Amino acid sequence: MAKQSQDAGDMWRRVDELVEGLDLAGDVAAAAEQVAALGREAVAHLARTALGRTGVRRERAAALLGCLTGQAARWACREVERQIETRPLNPTEHMWVMALLRRLDEAASGTGTAAAGPDLADPLLDDETELLLWRDEFAALGHAEQQSILAPILQDGNPAFLRLLETALGLQIAAVDGAIADGLARFATSEALPLLRELLRRPDPVVRKRARASLAALERQGVDIRGVFVAAAESVEPVRAALASVPQGDGRMAVIVARGHTASCVRFAAVVLDPVEAGIANVWGESGITEAEFRDHLADYTETTEQRLVNVDLATAQALVAAAEDYARRQGRTLSPDYLVWRRCFGRPKQPVALPIVFGPACSRCGARLRSGDLLRGGVIAGRAALCARCAAGPLACVACGRPLNRRTDDALARPSANGARVEFLCRRCGRGNGG
Ligand SMILES: [Zn+2]
Ligand SMILES: [Zn+2]
Repeated sequence: MAKQSQDAGDMWRRVDELVEGLDLAGDVAAAAEQVAALGREAVAHLARTALGRTGVRRERAAALLGCLTGQAARWACREVERQIETRPLNPTEHMWVMALLRRLDEAASGTGTAAAGPDLADPLLDDETELLLWRDEFAALGHAEQQSILAPILQDGNPAFLRLLETALGLQIAAVDGAIADGLARFATSEALPLLRELLRRPDPVVRKRARASLAALERQGVDIRGVFVAAAESVEPVRAALASVPQGDGRMAVIVARGHTASCVRFAAVVLDPVEAGIANVWGESGITEAEFRDHLADYTETTEQRLVNVDLATAQALVAAAEDYARRQGRTLSPDYLVWRRCFGRPKQPVALPIVFGPACSRCGARLRSGDLLRGGVIAGRAALCARCAAGPLACVACGRPLNRRTDDALARPSANGARVEFLCRRCGRGNGG
């Protein structure tokens, strides 16, 4: 018995040496074979190390684990399963372990997973609600722990983790951005491009430099990187609904897209667009709901906001959201981290679409750019036309009956002129007959 435990101790030390001496840029597969050759207990020790708490070891152990095949992968799988039964996992570990188990399972049965397609994504890694929970937990950790959590994921290189990394990028933490910028070089797939695109736009020059280096590394690995500035990840689920609200007098409108393979599992994302200031004023969504629950949500929304939602074609919904995102960036706004999680539910339009509203509208009378203050002081937006507060304070008349109107005292209805170039007004009486 003593002899046996001494043997086990020796063998663990041997595994630890292999882990510590591992050159991540070198032949990881060969090192993994060496561990496998030491037998079942060595592989189990490796699996425990990968689940451990120390960053550097964890990263290397995870890399080795990811290279195991056949019988050794099966041993690792059993040990990981045993470990997760005995101790609680935080959501990150949970996601990572689930993806790891599936990979080991595939490696054990010899089905291989090298050519991972977009549908490889683990359900957990594709659920926005889970991702947001994970993000909030991740955000509360110290820098060192954040790095130690990211390490095995970045080492893994499994495209299923890209959503998790994209979610982490939404927090805009320079150290996290830097680690991800480096790590993306291991994700030899065009699916990494939307993340690099995000990083190439970061204000920190060091992050941008590291993202450029990873982009070059991907190109060397045969990834077609030409699409990096248009690349946008989009859910592969079929669209079940695309809706938009009728634009309000301040130009704001809501856009909602719902997706799902079946009516029993639907997700939707919604944004309120602000074409004057923020671009994107608000974003929310829900995942894992039924079609009926989605319809309930729409009914609630229409009731509480008193806005009418109409069906629009998907390309219009996508173009509105994409234009709002681009406008927010041009205005130097930081995109809401929630938007980065929900935006793939929208996707980007495949062809140019004429938008019903203008981002950054100008007064059609004097040409001045509207500010949100204009809208508080009588200025108004109608379709693609707008009137600033100063021009709206001048003499106005009802286009139908000619009665003089005062924006401050009269409840006039604003609408776009027939050619859409100007804002015109109807007095209350004429407006009533026009559906106002
Ligand atoms: Zn004006
Ligand atoms: Zn009138």
